[in-house]
Amino acid sequence: PSFRTVLRELPEIYNLDIPPSETFPDADPSVFHKRYLKKMRDLGEGHFGKVTLYLYDPSNDGTGERVAVKALKQENGHVSEGWMKEIEILKSLYHSNIVKYKGCCTELGGHVVQLIMEYLPLGSLREYLPKRKLCVPQCLMFAQQICQGMEYLHSKRYIHRDLAARNVLVENDSLVKIGDFGLTKYIPEGEIYYRVREDGDSPVFWYAIECLKESKFSFSTDVWSFGVTLYEILTRCDHRQSPPTKFFEMMEAPQGQMTMLILIKLLERRRRLPCPKECPHEVKTLMEQCWDEDPAERPTFGFLIEKFEAVRR
Ligand code: ADP
Ligand code: MG
Repeated sequence: PSFRTVLRELPEIYNLDIPPSETFPDADPSVFHKRYLKKMRDLGEGHFGKVTLYLYDPSNDGTGERVAVKALKQENGHVSEGWMKEIEILKSLYHSNIVKYKGCCTELGGHVVQLIMEYLPLGSLREYLPKRKLCVPQCLMFAQQICQGMEYLHSKRYIHRDLAARNVLVENDSLVKIGDFGLTKYIPEGEIYYRVREDGDSPVFWYAIECLKESKFSFSTDVWSFGVTLYEILTRCDHRQSPPTKFFEMMEAPQGQMTMLILIKLLERRRRLPCPKECPHEVKTLMEQCWDEDPAERPTFGFLIEKFEAVRR
């Protein structure tokens, strides 16, 4: 065969399958090719996903960029409605306190999709906080940034439903971003609740009382979870003071199936997480407002931002 033929057939011979987009300089930057992704290390995993650090290095000389790649755990990343929804939601969000979407890596003709995000070098607040001696003003700055990201999310009519320190990522000592939109739901205009049908693995100790009792989620249930996240930040994610640890201590005889019912009883009797050490009085009040049993009495993220600004001044 002629040199030209070989050249034309090379991609097929080596199964290179180079799509036309890649041969042009203006290729779609949100399309990531698996063969250029070089694994560096595991970053973490939650209930649903596994996140890995890769070097995306098309020129194959080590000069590529580091990206965080999220794949689904159970279905091996096989596309499911919820997973595609998570990707679509992240793709539509642009805010300095929300992790940036970069693109997707699609395999097996679209049957497996991985989400490519910016890499945040300091991991989640859960990894970061116990290692540093963060002062209270810095804690409050992080709390305010979370509120800013959440206010934006709510302005787009999304509820997060899984706000917790494990889902807040740290860029540097003065910047955090909300990550993990796996449970995020859209609330149609005119409606205020989202009712869950599936009874999956839920982060119950971060949930508002009405979520536990009636599976009702609203903008105000995110505010409750923010209160728990604020508690985690002020206890520097010390696992001996974690929300599950503290609630279990309050329960007399916690046992498997009964845990939810006992937790509901505790919350109905107005039992709440304790005030963290060195927590300023105004912040304690805010935390208690976030945990008001009446969702309508809880503050909005806009209100919380103003309060944090005032306390930090
Ligand atoms: P899940 O939906 O399974 O909870 P997450 O999106 O919360 O998955 O990711 C799991 C963990 O991976 C996080 O708690 C964090 O430690 C780490 N992680 C996630 N995204 C990033 C990122 N962009 N940069 C650095 N670490 C990350
Ligand atoms: Mg998570």
